[in-house]
Amino acid sequence: MEKKNLDWANLGFNYMTTDYRYVSNYKDGKWDDGAIVTDSTVTLNECAGVFQYSQSCFEGLKAYTTEDGHIVCFRPDLNASRMKDSCERLEMPVFPEDRFVEAVEQVVKANAAWVPPFGSGATLYIRPYMIATNAVIGVKPADEYQFRILVTPVGPYFKGGAKPITIRVSDFDRAAPHGTGHIKAGLNYAMSLHAIVDAHAKGFDENMYLDPATRTYVEETGGANFIFITKDGKFVTPKSDSILPSITRRSLMVVAEKYLNMPVEHRQVKFSEVKDFEECGLCGTAAVISPIGKIVDHGEEICIPSGMEEMGPYTRKLYDTLTGIQMGEIEGPEGWVHTIM
Ligand SMILES: *Cc1c(COP(=O)(O)O)cnc(C)c1O
Repeated sequence: MEKKNLDWANLGFNYMTTDYRYVSNYKDGKWDDGAIVTDSTVTLNECAGVFQYSQSCFEGLKAYTTEDGHIVCFRPDLNASRMKDSCERLEMPVFPEDRFVEAVEQVVKANAAWVPPFGSGATLYIRPYMIATNAVIGVKPADEYQFRILVTPVGPYFKGGAKPITIRVSDFDRAAPHGTGHIKAGLNYAMSLHAIVDAHAKGFDENMYLDPATRTYVEETGGANFIFITKDGKFVTPKSDSILPSITRRSLMVVAEKYLNMPVEHRQVKFSEVKDFEECGLCGTAAVISPIGKIVDHGEEICIPSGMEEMGPYTRKLYDTLTGIQMGEIEGPEGWVHTIM
């Protein structure tokens, strides 16, 4: 298989049309067999449920090449089960979890020429998603759906290393109490777009959202969970039913405890505690960990002791260990690295 002739190391985080995508349709109460197709367009009725009442959810994971030349992805079974949770909350039909993983394998294999080579820092971003496809005008769930997986090569999230970022405490919420914050619904992102555009306009990289009911506990950002390190080397990460359960964060909890012997606390984190932490970061599939250097709360600055120059030492160890496991340089727990070919 010959690789595409791309400048792998200089790819951005942008969509590029690749050769194949996976499509399966749900009709009359069942999913069809699904297939790999070449058409990158979707044609729908003007009144499709996704356009009217936003029945849409998605996942995100990456495939990459290991040093020994295999193409692998990371814990796709967790993406499958998280999408199941999203579908159930949105009254959408679940795409069977085993079929989800098989579809990821099929679409990555078909697009093997688009999987960036080892060492380039680039990866093949995989975006499974589901939309309501039949016409719906009275408010109710649709009865027909499409499950689709597109893939697109993306560059290293941080070119030239991860620099600590500055975030602000947002006056907007990304989720409602007892709402949909814990599932990966497109509608959560629609709600956060104004907040992120406003944050960028004011010179901040991201928003820190507090719990929408009381504004006293830390939740997450628009697309990544928080991790904190205490002065005595404890790993602390916020717990709330409106936080999206990040697979990266769940993996880092295991890395901290089992690989780095750090005590792990998954609990409510008061915003008033944040000033006492030694290191702080955001975690998600795209960047793995982005270190945070400064948090601004309505003009009041909290400077994280690890500073604005580089990741703190614990964050660095967490980052190196998790990416080492992902790349096959460190033996990971059973089932974490999923070989596709
Ligand atoms: C996808 C997502 C994350 C990160 O989850 P990963 O599984 O680690 O990629 C965090 N927060 C939100 C709101 C998300 O949508």
